[in-house]
Amino acid sequence: MLGVDRIARAAALAASAGLDGLLIAPGPDLRYLTGYSPLSAAERLMVLVVRPGEEPVFVLPSFERGDAPDGLRYVEWVDGEDPYSAATKLLGAGRYAVSDATWALHVLGLQAAAADASLVSMSAGLPLLRAVKDADELARMARAGAAVDAAFGALLDVPFAGRTERDVGEELTGLLREHGHDSVDFIIVGSGPNGANPHHGVSDRVIAEGDMVVLDFGGFVAGYGSDTTRTVHVGEASDEHQRVHDVVRQAQQVGVEAVRPGVACQDVDRGVRAHIVAAGYGEYFTHRTGHGIGVETHEQPYIVEGSTQPLEPGMCFSIEPGIYLPRQFGVRIEDIVAVTDDGVRRLNESPRELLVVG
Ligand code: ZN
Ligand code: ZN
Ligand code: ZN
Repeated sequence: MLGVDRIARAAALAASAGLDGLLIAPGPDLRYLTGYSPLSAAERLMVLVVRPGEEPVFVLPSFERGDAPDGLRYVEWVDGEDPYSAATKLLGAGRYAVSDATWALHVLGLQAAAADASLVSMSAGLPLLRAVKDADELARMARAGAAVDAAFGALLDVPFAGRTERDVGEELTGLLREHGHDSVDFIIVGSGPNGANPHHGVSDRVIAEGDMVVLDFGGFVAGYGSDTTRTVHVGEASDEHQRVHDVVRQAQQVGVEAVRPGVACQDVDRGVRAHIVAAGYGEYFTHRTGHGIGVETHEQPYIVEGSTQPLEPGMCFSIEPGIYLPRQFGVRIEDIVAVTDDGVRRLNESPRELLVVG
């Protein structure tokens, strides 16, 4: 069973991080470790307790047992019982990392029941649990990258001018599914001034000749995420649109070329930022350079100032610089990259020059 290997590895990682164990509630960490994803996280406590040198134990409501994965030891509880003491009975004194997606309700319940255990977030205690992808995961990430590129290629044939962002977004949703995505996670169609908001979704704004359009989209293929951004132009680009696009494209290239094992995350961010600052647009690059991606769209490692985390082969993350000119337009270019033994591999290969659409 896949889960047993990953749980054993997680226990070893926990031990080397000085943790006495891991508490994993439903969410991406549980999916990663066991393949199990209950319909939703909920108010009834379900938690996988992983302790180095001990058998993993899954604490869950009795009636959830039917869907839960085989090969684990179970502690079942029924409505009316106190699930927190059932779970914390399994813990000794010590320091435990709790999966980031665990509801506050459960974290506080566990902490109150385990007075001599101290709880930290997974991000604080064991940030790299899912950050280094194995060969099977890398193959899935590459599939997701190829699928999202194919969807973008097909989108270039659709008309932009005279249609709303929402229409183009719906078209893109269909293309992602058509090109192998099991689910669509997010769609950004930021035309004209809306492109200056990095996390704009879609709106009823009608796209017009002369607009820059930021297209950022992704979803999941075989459990792993895609996420890419291209900025296109409706009709011939003005000099300013072309210039800003050139700066972002070059900055993105600088970022990709900086990636190799041993380089600190913040140094990739610094290289990209320095390029944009030198071009005079530093104050308009308002977010970090990138984020890890895998079973979640945003996960460790974050390519951000302050992160001295060295890159390791198998890490996958975005390089996505942008320039956002308020009330005017935005440009962002984003590819997912994988760190290799001696450098980097891009998982997105859609054209990066400024493409003209109709
Ligand atoms: Zn984002
Ligand atoms: Zn994106
Ligand atoms: Zn992204």
